[in-house]
Amino acid sequence: LTRLRQRLAGSQGALGRGLLSLLSRDRLDEDTWESIEDTLLAADVGVAPTQELVEHLRTRLRVEGEADPRAVLREELVNLVGPDLDRRLHVTGEDGKPGVVLVVGVNGAGKTTTVGKLARILVAEDRSVVLGAADTFRAAAVEQLTTWGERVGVEVVRGPEGTDPASVAFEAVKEGMVHGVDTVVVDTAGRLQNKAGLMDELGKVKRVIEKQAPVTEVLLVLDATTGQNGMIQARVFSEVVDVTGIVLTKLDGSAKGGIVVAVQRELGVPVKLVGLGEGADDLAPFDAGAFVDALLG
Ligand code: GDP
Repeated sequence: LTRLRQRLAGSQGALGRGLLSLLSRDRLDEDTWESIEDTLLAADVGVAPTQELVEHLRTRLRVEGEADPRAVLREELVNLVGPDLDRRLHVTGEDGKPGVVLVVGVNGAGKTTTVGKLARILVAEDRSVVLGAADTFRAAAVEQLTTWGERVGVEVVRGPEGTDPASVAFEAVKEGMVHGVDTVVVDTAGRLQNKAGLMDELGKVKRVIEKQAPVTEVLLVLDATTGQNGMIQARVFSEVVDVTGIVLTKLDGSAKGGIVVAVQRELGVPVKLVGLGEGADDLAPFDAGAFVDALLG
């Protein structure tokens, strides 16, 4: 929590501080409510959730005259973020098979980095892990994942550049089955050339994996700094593959934490992990209360 607070202090923190200072004004007049709305919209909270939140704040602070704006804001923000969403990661398989985590998203969102950091978390929990470097279109991605594998101490299954991503995914899961590992994490290619192409590619990857073991989690990696553009991409991915969790990366460098709310609403899928930096330990489980506390500083 301390780290979350530190990381968000410079960027996200501005949102919480801005809202608090507006709500602490002596008179909550129309101008103030408008500024509150603007602040939320600027942080990518989205139109409908913003209106909802402002409505609740108005009722509680102005109509009902509750005295503690900070407490009210905290409660309402936590509700908005979803304190009761099931954010558990499904990394365990059944019938002696490994759990299979498929990691999808556009290039540059932070997929490969997330796979590396996730492997580290799983290893720290004493799980055995195999990684699949199925982003075969970018040699750099395969190299990058190999480096992560060495760093974390897990095997990385890879193929020559340009290999069919599905065949690498297949081999990775096979390797995981042979060695009886707990979890196989598969990095995928994120070329958003067109929806049909993406659907073919990810569909095939998923199908060949499922010849051996069910995919237990599909994580969509989304760059928090990309705003509406990122939301459009997220929608395309969610139409192509059944996303079960969102990883929001680069929250450390964005003042747009509202995207947590927007993307959950849009996709109906919870944010499960957040990326807070480029380092190996900079991936954290998402917790609504801790997140809002970090926002409010
Ligand atoms: P991919 O193309 O989706 O696999 O993206 P990469 O994993 O290669 O990441 C793209 C860039 O974003 C790299 O420079 C990463 O170090 C950086 N990155 C990834 N996650 C985070 C994060 O949570 N915070 C910050 N600041 N940078 C990140």
